[in-house]
Amino acid sequence: MSKIVFLGTGAADWHMTQDIENPDFRALSGMLIDGHIMIDCGPGAFVYEDKYGKSGIYRNVDTVFVTHSHDDHFGKAYVERLCAESEKNITLYGDKALEQFIPQCKNLTFVALDASAHQTVECGGYSVTALKSNHATRVPGEQTHHYYFKGEKNLFIGYDGAWLIADTWEFLQKNPIDVYVIDATCGEDFRLDFRNFSHNNLHMIDFMYETFIANNVMTKDSKLILTHLAKTLHPSNADTKLIANKRGYEMAYDGMELEF
Ligand SMILES: [Zn+2]
Ligand SMILES: [Zn+2]
Repeated sequence: MSKIVFLGTGAADWHMTQDIENPDFRALSGMLIDGHIMIDCGPGAFVYEDKYGKSGIYRNVDTVFVTHSHDDHFGKAYVERLCAESEKNITLYGDKALEQFIPQCKNLTFVALDASAHQTVECGGYSVTALKSNHATRVPGEQTHHYYFKGEKNLFIGYDGAWLIADTWEFLQKNPIDVYVIDATCGEDFRLDFRNFSHNNLHMIDFMYETFIANNVMTKDSKLILTHLAKTLHPSNADTKLIANKRGYEMAYDGMELEF
C-alpha cells in the first residue's frame, strides 16, 4: 500500500503569503510519499507544515526526488530547512545541473540521475526511474524530470511539463500506470495561453488520456489526478472539481491524502 500526501497543488502564480487567505488557495507543488519520500523541496512543503500545524511531518524524510530547479519546486533554503527537520540521512536525486545549488548539510547527499538513460534507483520498495519531461529552465544544460515509481501499483509523477517527450512515451508503453499525477497548469478555456508549450491544459490531458487508455498505458481503473493548477487559469476549486470529475479525473488539493 502506498500513501501520498499532496503538500501543495498550485502552479507558480500563487503567492505564498498574499494569497493564503484566498478560499481557493493552493501552496506551491510538492508531495510526500509513504512519510519519507519527497517530490520536490520548495516553499509549498513548508507552507503546508506551518499552515496545517504539521510540525515534525518531515522528520522521517530520507529521500527527495527533484523534478527541476524552478523556485516553486526547489531552493537551497528549503533543502536546508528539510535537513534540519529530518532525523535521517537524506539522499537528494535530480539532474546533474542541480549540483551547483545543493547546500552543504551534514546529513545530505546529492546523487545525479540521467533521465536520458532512464536511470533507475531502488527506494522504499519502489524502483524509481527518471524520465525526461517537456519543460525548460534557464539553468544551462538542465534536463527536467518526471519520475516513474514501479511498485505494487505504479505511480507516474508527470509535472512540470507539457505533453510527453517521445522517449518517455516509449517507456510508458512498456510500463503501465495505475496513478498518474499530471500537470494541469492551464484549465479548460486557455487554448491560447503561452504556458501550453511547457504545461498542459485540460484539452491536452483529454487527448492524452484517451491515448493512454487506447494503448493500455492506463485502464479505466487507473487514476488521473490533476495538480499544479494556476491561480489565473482555473475557476474556483469547487467548479474545477466538477470539471475534473465530469471527465473522470480527480482534482488534487492541498492536504489531500491518497492510498493505493
Ligand atoms: Zn512549477
Ligand atoms: Zn517549472
